Amino acid sequence: MKHTALFLLLFSMILTGCSQKSSDQPALVVEDMGRNILLQEVFADCGHSDIVGREKRSAKETESELLKAYPGFTLSALGATHATLIKQRNGKCGEHYLFQEYKGKIAVFRENNKALLDVLDVSVGQLRKQDQKMLKDGISVYGKEECAAFWDDFGS
Ligand SMILES: [Zn+2]
Repeated sequence: MKHTALFLLLFSMILTGCSQKSSDQPALVVEDMGRNILLQEVFADCGHSDIVGREKRSAKETESELLKAYPGFTLSALGATHATLIKQRNGKCGEHYLFQEYKGKIAVFRENNKALLDVLDVSVGQLRKQDQKMLKDGISVYGKEECAAFWDDFGS
């Protein structure tokens, strides 16, 4: 009987201790300032990435809750205030341009979807043999500025 009483006393002390701890907790909870979510697509062939979204969500969300909110994305970084989610894409990003011969003229295409963007009124036949050969195969250029510079070179 004595043992049981002692056990009960100890047990109730433990319970009291626990409940005191949990009642202290609300004061320690930091205000949810939110977490900035960055969504990126990463292209397999060039390694470049595009930002496809920025959102602000609760900082209390767990890794699995975040992944559930963005199907097809994987978590690349998760911090208290920031998280980055990425989605793998095939091919190249939209910043790659291809200069190529098109109906005897110089044309520029978007490389990832082969869309014709513009045709320069310069006959490929007027160019040096070396340039003609390169334009047959296609010249890959990255970035709008590089593309514009290339365009000017051929036009002049
Ligand atoms: Zn790229």
